[in-house]
Amino acid sequence: MPRIIISCPTTGQDVPTGHRTQDIDLKIMAEPRSFRCPVCQQVHRWMGCDARVETLERPPSAPVH
Ligand SMILES: [Zn+2]
Repeated sequence: MPRIIISCPTTGQDVPTGHRTQDIDLKIMAEPRSFRCPVCQQVHRWMGCDARVETLERPPSAPVH
């Protein structure tokens, strides 16, 4: 399952929240969540609108046009 990632507000890097799309539906997520950022070691709060789903690395059969 793809990971849910946010952009770290301190460094701007994409960081995984530790959740996956099977755990959380971003569209119906009402409460902000906190997590400790692995990049800057600070606690960030994030909502569904801040998050996005990690892009899967190159599906093997993806057609290239
Ligand atoms: Zn951070």
